[in-house]
Amino acid sequence: MSTMAKFKHVLVMPYPAQGHVTPLLKLSHCIADYGVEVTFANTKSIHARMMAANPGLDEGSNRIKFVAIPDGLETDEERKDSTKRLEGMSRVMPGHLQELIEKVKEQSNGNEDEQISFMIVDLAAGWALEVAERMGIERAGFWAASVSTLALNLHIPKLIEAGVIDNDGIALKNDLITISKDLPSYKSTDLPWSCPEDPRKQKILFGYALSILHHSKRSNLFLYNSFHELEASACSVIPGALPIGPLIPSARLFHRRGSLWNEDLTCSNWLDQHPAQSVLYVAFGSWTVFSPEQFYELAHGLEQIARPFLWVVRPDIVNGPVTEFHDGFLQRVRNYGKVVHWAPQEEVLAHPSVACFFTRCGWNSTLEGLSNGLPLLCRPYSVDQYLNRSFICDVWRVGLGVDGGENGLITRHEVRDKVLAVLGSDEIRANCLRVKEMARKSVSEGGSSLKNLQSFIELLKA
Ligand code: UDP
Repeated sequence: MSTMAKFKHVLVMPYPAQGHVTPLLKLSHCIADYGVEVTFANTKSIHARMMAANPGLDEGSNRIKFVAIPDGLETDEERKDSTKRLEGMSRVMPGHLQELIEKVKEQSNGNEDEQISFMIVDLAAGWALEVAERMGIERAGFWAASVSTLALNLHIPKLIEAGVIDNDGIALKNDLITISKDLPSYKSTDLPWSCPEDPRKQKILFGYALSILHHSKRSNLFLYNSFHELEASACSVIPGALPIGPLIPSARLFHRRGSLWNEDLTCSNWLDQHPAQSVLYVAFGSWTVFSPEQFYELAHGLEQIARPFLWVVRPDIVNGPVTEFHDGFLQRVRNYGKVVHWAPQEEVLAHPSVACFFTRCGWNSTLEGLSNGLPLLCRPYSVDQYLNRSFICDVWRVGLGVDGGENGLITRHEVRDKVLAVLGSDEIRANCLRVKEMARKSVSEGGSSLKNLQSFIELLKA
């Protein structure tokens, strides 16, 4: 007599940031839909924010249980400091994670089906892979950025050996960097750890890149929020790469993405009142900060274009006072501009009124823009965003860079000119539609990402 195969109980561990929590929560929903039991472990602080911004997230019949463990830090100020954050997490979180897994085992009263038997770990929180290894738990790594970014990280030893970068990750020449003849060359300024203007930050970022390299050896299986057709050459240089993206929420899950801010739910209604492809959506992700001067140039640029725009201005997006913005700007643009603290971004991007997306090129935003066939205006800020910009503008040719002058400041004139240029380009629009179709196919029946996801689900059968 054959017994029905049971799924393993999977623990999912994201790095504590919006761009990591969102895709891993989407993946959790995907596997839960197949009948897999998921325990989603956040840090206490992220857990509290997520629950506050998404009432009811942990209720209902879905198979995801949300749990929280301490991150070793006292205040949110400390959490903003990357050295303190990374140090605190790697010092206390492995112990707490182990305790959590042991507690689940204890409470199972010997029922193995209830015990955690598989872990999906964000490579950016790679120390959790070590916990899994030590406890003899099967595991898969998850990479929340592009496959090309990981390929570059994994080639660090070769780049040092070839004298392309030094032991601190600094590019020794200005030349293009080639890691495989099949991959487009990288600009030395696009290295995700490159930060010539701030040596301390560069050191932290390179240390982080090295830790990713170290942790990547703790699993033979890696899941990516990307799709093969988009990054075929990068996939080919990483053995066992399993792209399962773009991870897109179904309409019923738009509000279950685990936003850390309250989403402004008036956006859809506002968009409904505008003609198709008329609105410029402007959002720079979860952690970028502008100087007041840069912020005002952007504001004036949007004002000068004088077409409808929806702009996400997080409460902490400017590092100084912007009185004129609140007192004058909002009043002047009130007939065509809407400013919100946090938008339901994927719902916005899928709305037919949206014409174009002005972005910092975080990987999630990039994929979300591509999946909706939107031309992208790119203003990268840090880590992998420069590399993403190069792929958007030079490889897939679905957008334009907004580069700024000598001092890096982007002016209101450049904002206006580039918005008009990206909206006026038939070539860019055609490429956007091609990439959108590729993305749709990859997650549809018979598509490469769906097949990869299904083969991963098979693996989760006990
Ligand atoms: N996001 C959102 N509302 C906003 C701005 C961003 O829901 O108003 C989401 C966006 O959909 C994406 C994530 O936040 O999934 C940001 O991740 P990304 O990798 O693009 O950028 P990061 O914040 O890590 O720089």
